Amino acid sequence: MKKTLIQLTLATLVTLTSASTHAQKLKVIAAYPYIASITQEIAGNSVDIESLANAKWDPHFITARPSFIAKLRNADLLITNGAELEIGWIPPLVNQAKNLKLGGDGTLDLSRYVDLQEIPQEISRKMGDVHPSGNPHFHLDPYNVIPIAKAISSRLIKLDSANTANYEHGLKIFLQKWNEHLQNWEKSMASLKGQNVVQYHNLFHYFLHRFQISSVATVERLPGIPPTAEHMIDLEKQIKNNHVNIVIQDIYHPDNAAKIITQKLGLKLVYLPHDVGAASHTENIFALFDEIVRLMTHD
Ligand SMILES: [Zn+2]
Repeated sequence: MKKTLIQLTLATLVTLTSASTHAQKLKVIAAYPYIASITQEIAGNSVDIESLANAKWDPHFITARPSFIAKLRNADLLITNGAELEIGWIPPLVNQAKNLKLGGDGTLDLSRYVDLQEIPQEISRKMGDVHPSGNPHFHLDPYNVIPIAKAISSRLIKLDSANTANYEHGLKIFLQKWNEHLQNWEKSMASLKGQNVVQYHNLFHYFLHRFQISSVATVERLPGIPPTAEHMIDLEKQIKNNHVNIVIQDIYHPDNAAKIITQKLGLKLVYLPHDVGAASHTENIFALFDEIVRLMTHD
């Protein structure tokens, strides 16, 4: 009986110790999977990290779920893409979560650490559902992942200084590995330098710009507005005039227009994943770019 009691006490102690260690882990909520992946690479097991959005969803139109509020209520840190990409869904959720921790350093807006491109001079309804703060899809330039990773590491250190050495080491290893991958991506993408392409939406703007590929038109008529028959005639002219060979389609918009035009003109249609988990072979941030580069460059 005595032995059993001791065993029980020991078991309780072990449970309590692991429970309290677990409770001290920083709870990080990422708006999108790519943010969760970069955070995971840096922090390893030092944090609990979860993404709200699913990679297969259109990142512009995330439907909020009640479970998101509960997640935000328990979070120590919320990391957003920013540049108004989440304007329609994150602010109402944060309001409802009523978590005081998410004020000040409890929210990290990654768009503040990169140079935004395509900032419109003026905004009118005629422009469609344009991004008023500039193109928010900056994480698709692999060079932008560097300041993003540094910003995440700094914020983790600020909120959880006891694990500073872990985060610093995690960042160092991540950046070493990232720089090795960048060299491979540069080498592969050099073959497409100077080419003209068409995209469904300007989703891969930063990626294409980085590797000196010009995106001359979009399949969508205007941002967020599907193509019309008239637009498709115009698009065909632009493809011919600019000697376009590749049409890039995202994984969440209808692909019928892109299919018709690529078949008609004998062009390559490439379905590119935009986030970690959006397609097969994109299980982390390294794999995502490996796959984008592979899809762009293979015959
Ligand atoms: Zn967009």
